[in-house]
Amino acid sequence: MHRRILAPGALAAASVLLAIPASAASHSPGAPGIGDAYYPAYGNGGYDVSHYDLRLKYQPATDELEGTATLLARTTQDLSRFNLDFLLEVSEVRVNGVKASFEASGEHELEITPKTPLAKGSAVTVVVRYRGVPSSKEAYGFTSWHRTPDGGVGANEPEAAWWWFPGNDHPLDKATFDVSVLVPDGSQAISNGTLQSTSSRAGWTRYNWRSNKPQATYLATLAVGRFDVTTGTTESGIPVVNAYSKDLGDNYGAARASIERTGEIADWLSGYFGPYPFNALGGYVPNTTTGYALETQTRPFYSPRQFAGGTNTSLVVHELAHQWYGDLVSVAEWKDIWINEGFARYAQWLWSEHEGEGTAQEIADYVYASHPADDAFWTVKPGDPGPENQFHLAVYDRGALTLQALRNEIGDDAFFAILKGWPRKYAHGNATVADFRTYAEQVSGKPLAALFDTWLFQPVKPAGPAALDASAARRAGAPERPESWRKIAATNTVHEHGHGHGHGLEGADTH
Ligand SMILES: [Zn+2]
Repeated sequence: MHRRILAPGALAAASVLLAIPASAASHSPGAPGIGDAYYPAYGNGGYDVSHYDLRLKYQPATDELEGTATLLARTTQDLSRFNLDFLLEVSEVRVNGVKASFEASGEHELEITPKTPLAKGSAVTVVVRYRGVPSSKEAYGFTSWHRTPDGGVGANEPEAAWWWFPGNDHPLDKATFDVSVLVPDGSQAISNGTLQSTSSRAGWTRYNWRSNKPQATYLATLAVGRFDVTTGTTESGIPVVNAYSKDLGDNYGAARASIERTGEIADWLSGYFGPYPFNALGGYVPNTTTGYALETQTRPFYSPRQFAGGTNTSLVVHELAHQWYGDLVSVAEWKDIWINEGFARYAQWLWSEHEGEGTAQEIADYVYASHPADDAFWTVKPGDPGPENQFHLAVYDRGALTLQALRNEIGDDAFFAILKGWPRKYAHGNATVADFRTYAEQVSGKPLAALFDTWLFQPVKPAGPAALDASAARRAGAPERPESWRKIAATNTVHEHGHGHGHGLEGADTH
């Protein structure tokens, strides 16, 4: 309850408003999509969520999930009804405490009609009670919920939320999260942020996780299983919680030897990108048969298979780089994926340089030379790759080549000022590829339209190499394969998303 002191003028205005009968005619349904060109049905229109409270119970033996989601939102138009994105069975919806009618529609829409229409700009509390077996649900012919021998995991991009909580599933609508999960004793529930508390009673244990900074819905994750959990603190003081499935077999050591370096790597990245933006860190490796990794906020998801070839700190660098480039600053639309993947890949090149296994320039020369002009690699435009090529290798490797070209064009001082300034400029928000070009021009004082057009938007191999002085390397023959290349390329192994989006074999496994 808010007590308000109204000035006389405001009182009069309020009286006038009260005298006008509410007209439902001015209220209209919120759009079933937020307006993303690649994924028209993703997210929803008419409201903005500020907080998700998820109180869940999960049974690993049967994959049964039940829960209550409480969403705090604000309307952005006069609403007669609105949608959430969700797949499980809903038993009740309340809007501002009052039962609302609801109906499933489309591939993943839940249409909610409140008893009384909602005025633009008003605070709304939506409570959704639900249950279901996430692994039994598909949308567009795929699932993002992965069963494991000891439980289940929700992690995928661009969509993972529909299988475990209702929401406005698009990076444009970030919110804070409290995720509270009840699991049988002996199992653990892993999610984002800090573990606020646990409590046990009658054979069940509740885990209470909190993400206190805005988080995109695809960056929210839940894993239930039997994990070895390690804890620590980075040199800069950030608490670290890592979790490893107990049955990773031969991959266990390499997974742990990689991810236990999370704190060190985050501190190293902060030298390039500015202070680590969240209050928690970590990573987790459930026993999935998936092949990819994902930058779930504060606590990336890693597939065991990523460690089949031994440790891969380059992979950890990639996912942690996304905490700045992808999580702190998120895409405005999915076509802006380069502002995530180009930079996370470039961070791997910087790590290679740091480890003495090949400079960024050497890797750029190698990548440029590896793809002849008639390679289909050059037909993918990293600045707008299309939904079918959103995770194409070109978004990563040509994306990073773009940054090397930029670095050579404007010099190290301006380049590294941009890398550090961008996350601060758009912190906790969204940005576009065009925003990056504008920012790079502002910081460097140079016109860069031609450079970005050549490297991000032309479906041909750029005539000039990314290098300033690659001519020497070219004269000497094909550039040598850098020492780090095997580990960097190991993050590109054959894609296996079970996605309906048509990712090709060249798609990258590292999100
Ligand atoms: Zn990535």
